[in-house]
Amino acid sequence: MLSKTLFQTGSGLARSAAAFSTSTTKQQQQKYDALVVGGGHNGLVAAAYLSKSGLRRVRVLERRPVLGGAAVTEEIVPGYKFSRASYLLSLLRPAVMDELELKKHGLRVYLRDPSSFTPVLGSEKSLLLGMSAEENRRQIAQFSEKDSMVFEEYEEKLNTFVDLLDPILDLSPSELARIFGQGTSLRERIRRLREVRGPLRKAARAAKEADLAALYELVTAPSEKVKNTV
Ligand SMILES: Cc1cc2nc3c(=O)[nH]c(=O)nc-3n(C[C@H](O)[C@H](O)[C@H](O)COP(=O)(O)OP(=O)(O)OC[C@H]3O[C@@H](n4cnc5c(N)ncnc54)[C@H](O)[C@@H]3O)c2cc1C
Repeated sequence: MLSKTLFQTGSGLARSAAAFSTSTTKQQQQKYDALVVGGGHNGLVAAAYLSKSGLRRVRVLERRPVLGGAAVTEEIVPGYKFSRASYLLSLLRPAVMDELELKKHGLRVYLRDPSSFTPVLGSEKSLLLGMSAEENRRQIAQFSEKDSMVFEEYEEKLNTFVDLLDPILDLSPSELARIFGQGTSLRERIRRLREVRGPLRKAARAAKEADLAALYELVTAPSEKVKNTV
């Protein structure tokens, strides 16, 4: 989706980052201001930012015939298109969408409802989840009455974790290292802290609502333990 946005719009941004074969000669490489290896989601975003920052000749080197990396849609079975891996628009940051004006370049986001369909091999049963809490409960109850009762609570808990982690995703580890690490002057620390105080404040507010012990367990414990705690 992103590859279409960046490469098929005919914008200056699109023209400056063209994919081509990885077999470039040394002479060809010297013609570019920047080479980005890999035309996946991150490579395309990096190339677009490099281009936007003023570099005129940015090249994306992609070994596959299609751009997008794990976030591509491909016709695996003739007549049927599939998300090869990534199927949700969850990690593309809103700031990236705004700064690269992706909506203007054709990005459309669709709400998934139903959100997932899981058939059960060798059975007539399947699990169809969506936006309706009542219908989700009914669907899950086919497999576990207990799970159906706690699913909403589980989702609410996960949302408190999202509220805490989401603002931090826009900060880079190097920014945090410069603020909290050694070797940065006090003046520089204060300047950088001012720059990131918005997201840090949001995260700190969300941390008050979140069960931090449960979050720690979610990211470190085996899934068997986590799924039986709610
Ligand atoms: C099964 C699965 C499901 C996922 N689901 C979601 C989801 O629902 N929502 C979500 O937001 N994220 C999801 N993700 C994560 C998301 O796919 C990744 O965060 C994202 O694709 C990372 O982008 P990337 O550009 O770093 O890497 P990739 O998407 O892996 O792209 C790397 C690109 O580099 C190319 N490449 C590698 N080596 C070379 C080389 N030497 N020369 C030239 N080209 C090279 C590859 O061909 C590829 O196109 C999922 C990931 C997986 C594996």
